[in-house]
Amino acid sequence: MAVRDIVLYSENESALRKKSEPARAVNRRIKNLIRDLKDTLATHPEGIGLAAPQINVHQRVVVVRLGSRNEEDEREPDPPLALINPEIIEAKNDQRDFDGCLSFPGLFAETVRPHYLRVRGLNERGKPFDRIFEGFDAVLVHHEIDHLEGVLFIDRVERVEDLYRVREDEDGKLVRMPVATAVA
Ligand SMILES: [Zn+2]
Repeated sequence: MAVRDIVLYSENESALRKKSEPARAVNRRIKNLIRDLKDTLATHPEGIGLAAPQINVHQRVVVVRLGSRNEEDEREPDPPLALINPEIIEAKNDQRDFDGCLSFPGLFAETVRPHYLRVRGLNERGKPFDRIFEGFDAVLVHHEIDHLEGVLFIDRVERVEDLYRVREDEDGKLVRMPVATAVA
């Protein structure tokens, strides 16, 4: 059984699969798009990132909330940061980590992604940036840049056993429920 066979797609699969075009400039249209992405993210308290194709706009724009899974300190994640035309310059230190997506509510997995990512692009003011993301921030930015290529996190799940849902047990503790078990 393949991951693909057990994942139910939302009705917007074709929108999620379509590749996005670079923004020519950070103009009013792109600024409105950034606002829409931030507003949409704000309505999902559990969401930490969103890419334009997830709201059916095929421009290379993503928003991320860095510092979301910082285990050492329990600080609030940063306010959403927009990355326009993000381009990966260097990716290394691949590790297994948590993955999930607002386009697949309630579905989670472990995937392998870089924990060091150097990215170039434009910020919201249209100024070039060149910065390094590390740890889970790198995972998050990598996940969102994947969306711009029509790549989804389920594509990076190697084994169906790595895919799970979460539910509360009798004691109110969150437990993982495998979505499927391997079939011989
Ligand atoms: Zn996603």
